[in-house]
Amino acid sequence: MERAYKLRAYPTRPQEGRAVRLLADHCDLYNAALQERREAWPIRNLSITYGDQSAQLKEIRAADPDGQGRHSFTAQQQTLRRLNVVFGAYFKRVWSAERAGRQAGMKGENLQQRTVGYPRFKPRQRFNQVLFIAGDGAKWEPADGGRWAHATFQAVGRVRVNQHRPVVGRVKTLQLKREGRRWYVLVVTEAETAPLASTGRSVGVDVGVARFLTTSDGEVVANPRFLDAAQKRIVDLQRRIMRARPGSGNRRRLRRSLAKEWRTLRNQRRDFHHKIAHGLVDTCDTLALEDPRVAAMTASAAGTVEHPGRNVAAKAGLNRSILDAGWTQFTRILVAKAESAGRRVVLVHPAHTSIDCHTCGASCARPQQDLVVCPVHGDLDADLNGARNIATRAGLGSGQASVA
Ligand SMILES: [Zn+2]
Repeated sequence: MERAYKLRAYPTRPQEGRAVRLLADHCDLYNAALQERREAWPIRNLSITYGDQSAQLKEIRAADPDGQGRHSFTAQQQTLRRLNVVFGAYFKRVWSAERAGRQAGMKGENLQQRTVGYPRFKPRQRFNQVLFIAGDGAKWEPADGGRWAHATFQAVGRVRVNQHRPVVGRVKTLQLKREGRRWYVLVVTEAETAPLASTGRSVGVDVGVARFLTTSDGEVVANPRFLDAAQKRIVDLQRRIMRARPGSGNRRRLRRSLAKEWRTLRNQRRDFHHKIAHGLVDTCDTLALEDPRVAAMTASAAGTVEHPGRNVAAKAGLNRSILDAGWTQFTRILVAKAESAGRRVVLVHPAHTSIDCHTCGASCARPQQDLVVCPVHGDLDADLNGARNIATRAGLGSGQASVA
């Protein structure tokens, strides 16, 4: 199974200069190869293939030792291959247009009406990525305990990479990518899917507000502390932005800090989700969850803290905690991990899972966020009750069946 990781890279100034030149050189190579195909095709009715162009690379490199000659041979082949893919798609369009043209001709319509756009030259500022084969002009060094990994690219250097989650599997390719002023490394790995050993544990999982998560067998994961701290900083920055003069440099700086704060929060939250999902997948054969697609419909009406909807003001405190828990993302991560580990995931309809008593099915009162009160069974932990209902709905044994 292939996995792709998009990780932010932090080249030094000189490295960035060399990376820009790397992209420019590859762009030139791409355009030169395109030029050759353009000239060859209509004049000599000669089709130039990837194989032809790849064979010429040696000469091109020898003739330009300070330019093209400095770069990784296999990375250059990838760039030529990329052009080949563009041409493949182009010829496909041509053929289907010709076929359509012939059909039109049979019906007596004009044959020349359909034209197909020929592949175009790329301007340097829009040529934004180069693909390297790992171990050939590029090397990956994973973060060893710390946060920083390193990716080394020929003609660029050893670049610092923020490895915000573990990179699993054998690294196949490394792609250096520019997005505006940011740089990324796309790491593609090949990981064998080894089904995990059976554990005999099957649980319903309720992702809540008071706590991050509760399982039907009583495991509890608290909301992480960084949420509180981040929330304080975000509220503070928002207040300062409101006070700052519109259009001022100060306001611009504050907005940048705020955006950065959100970015950090999202990264921390993603790491947290991966960690918790990993633990559950390791210890459970079957996991039952509320269907996030259905649940998301309810959430979208409420808006998010970043993009408030109509109802967000009234329930801001509650919504903030819900969103900080970020369970849509968590569910997505959990489902993906479970599938790749050969674990079973059951998605249940979320209606009333928290409010109906898991023992008798009676509709409970909810005087507090974390408490429901069954008319028969009294006080119940809201999240544990929810998790047991989810397990029951999924047909798992750890919840107790409702009495009709
Ligand atoms: Zn009850």
